[in-house]
Amino acid sequence: MIENILEFFKNLPSKKCTECGETIEEQHECYGNKCDKCLGLLDM
Ligand SMILES: [Zn+2]
Repeated sequence: MIENILEFFKNLPSKKCTECGETIEEQHECYGNKCDKCLGLLDM
């Protein structure tokens, strides 16, 4: 059963940046749908 849960999470599609389409690592959930690069650009 535990293996099934792991498979479930492994198969989840990763988020993609709405700006450049780059895959977002799930470390900043509150950042929404933009990658670090685009977030940095928005700050400037
Ligand atoms: Zn981006």
